[in-house]
Amino acid sequence: MTTAHEPASHAPAWVRDIAPYVPGKPIEELARELHLDPAGIVKLASNENPRGPSPKALAAIATAAADITRYPDGNGFALRSALASRLGVAPECLVLGNGSNDVLELVTQAFLTPGDEAIYAQHAFAVYPLATHARGAKGVVVPAKDHGHDLPAMLAAVTPRTRVVFVANPNNPTGTWIGATAMEAFVANVPREVVVVLDEAYDEYLAPSDRSRSISWIGRYPNLIVSRTFSKAYGLAALRVGYGVMDASVADLLNRVRQPFNVNSLAQAAAIAALGDAAYVEESARSNREGMRQIEAGLAKLGVAFVPSHGNFLLVNVGDGARVYAALLRDGVIVRPVANYGLPAFLRVTVGLPAENERFLAALGRALGSPRANA
Ligand SMILES: *Cc1c(COP(=O)(O)O)cnc(C)c1O
Repeated sequence: MTTAHEPASHAPAWVRDIAPYVPGKPIEELARELHLDPAGIVKLASNENPRGPSPKALAAIATAAADITRYPDGNGFALRSALASRLGVAPECLVLGNGSNDVLELVTQAFLTPGDEAIYAQHAFAVYPLATHARGAKGVVVPAKDHGHDLPAMLAAVTPRTRVVFVANPNNPTGTWIGATAMEAFVANVPREVVVVLDEAYDEYLAPSDRSRSISWIGRYPNLIVSRTFSKAYGLAALRVGYGVMDASVADLLNRVRQPFNVNSLAQAAAIAALGDAAYVEESARSNREGMRQIEAGLAKLGVAFVPSHGNFLLVNVGDGARVYAALLRDGVIVRPVANYGLPAFLRVTVGLPAENERFLAALGRALGSPRANA
């Protein structure tokens, strides 16, 4: 209960109105609730890499652990240098984040004031509304087309109050993806005073020929920010490290509003090592393609529809997301409900290892009462 003298009631209305982010249910939590053995629970709820981290990243963490009494390098010199040479950009064009979520937050801190507008698509990543509303800015939600971004409609939604446009490519939770030609045409048409954020958290999962070239567009479009992460294909979700690539003048602004030590030293060391382990990333992408085919084939056998995905997850139409989510939980399988994304008929399942995918498919069959569930 809130009464007038309590501080919470004096917080800005736009903060009090924020709908909290709902993360995937942790394994330990479900184990406690249902008295299950955590080892028997399968979590396919947060688009994490199911293969475990790169041994090179683990070794780098062990080495860096000896130095944790020191503050991390607030400029992230070594990681930014490694990224700069990998991406072919100047280190001044890079902003490191405590996860790429942090970079998205920094964009809103640097560019949005109360009353400004940020544009994003219906069913787009939940952090865009969160970060926008936290600044007192207005989120302009553009209806999706075939579950994906309707770029012409997003362009038409730009007004003199628009400061930022967010596009997730591929998008989470829908898995939809836009090719380079359409994407660049969109960026070219957005007025230069409006920042375009291309969130490419799943880029490494695309076929090599489809991986984004958007970083090479920044020279032409200084209002473009490309964000990437070490949380997905690089397998470092718990360490919280991501980055944005942008014009040096924009990076300078974001670096002013970020915390001086926003990326910890273990994360910096692990990210450098992970970046150097190309084989780990490629094997993760390969294993994901195989798992994706396995789940797609299983769903087809069950007669369950899904949205074709370019990420490491699949949006599955189960008819009643809440009911099937609960049934899967009782079966020890955690997936992600997406009613909060306006998709109550769907569940999002992360591609796991073959045995995990099989557990999911069998549990889904049971939850849907399919005759072949016990086959
Ligand atoms: C997972 C994800 C991110 C990455 O978040 P981190 O903060 O880097 O862990 C960013 N954008 C989208 C669309 C995602 O799905």
